[in-house]
Amino acid sequence: DDIIVLKDLSKIYGNGVEVRALDGVSVKIKAGEFVAIVGPSGSGKSTLLNMIGLLDTPSSGHIFLKGIDVSRASPDERARLRNQELGFVFQYHHLIPEFTAVENVMMPMLIANKSKTEAHKRGEELLRAVGLGDRLHSRPNQLSGGQNQRVAVARALANNPSIVIGDELTGNLDTKSSELIYNLLRELNQKINQTFILVTHDMTLAEKTDRILRIVDGKIVCEMRRKDDGFVA
Ligand code: ADP
Ligand code: ADP
Repeated sequence: DDIIVLKDLSKIYGNGVEVRALDGVSVKIKAGEFVAIVGPSGSGKSTLLNMIGLLDTPSSGHIFLKGIDVSRASPDERARLRNQELGFVFQYHHLIPEFTAVENVMMPMLIANKSKTEAHKRGEELLRAVGLGDRLHSRPNQLSGGQNQRVAVARALANNPSIVIGDELTGNLDTKSSELIYNLLRELNQKINQTFILVTHDMTLAEKTDRILRIVDGKIVCEMRRKDDGFVA
């Protein structure tokens, strides 16, 4: 029941000088795991998320999603899988400025051919769950950074994706909102076995997950799993 398997994955960026952003990463993630990726700035965390999120292709190695090798899938196929299997929350939340909060959350559901009524109902529920029940009709420029971040979380969850990936998901949230989001994710994780993979600088958040992967210079240098009250290598 591995949902994601990375096999000897490398990514080299090159225009003139080559940068090895990922250097032989192998890791297996089970369905329903709650994983934190930590590591210094420039160590390859975003590159790794982009690979898992099928936003970019590896230079070598393989990515298996639910047992299927998707490392060299066509752009169309990757877009299809992104829409079907993945939810994204990135630091710059890509909300549509002309749309209200609830319309932004409805978007992925309308793309997936849900009815407007159904999408609106679920949009409202999700926004209530992230503490924005009273801001349904606000546009991004009428909301704070943290509130927009929460709209982005709600949108990422809209279609119940099997995998949710987040880059500094709680980065600009106050402690209270950040706990609210964490509790919501954990509830979904337990209720519908959703897999979460979060890049974070926040060790308080990392220590609430089940598994911490530390990446340095494009390599996973340390892996810890939750056991009872603490983490073991
Ligand atoms: P992190 O998310 O841990 O800060 P990144 O994955 O963003 O690390 O970057 C890893 C390395 O790859 C860094 O040296 C970075 O400068 C480089 N890099 C990232 N994206 C690109 C890109 N599009 N072109 C060239 N180099 C890049
Ligand atoms: P399509 O090609 O079908 O329009 P997209 O390229 O818009 O598909 O991507 C589908 C999903 O991937 C969307 O949920 C979108 O938000 C997400 N996505 C695409 N590119 C990025 C990116 N650079 N950062 C974060 N999310 C992205």
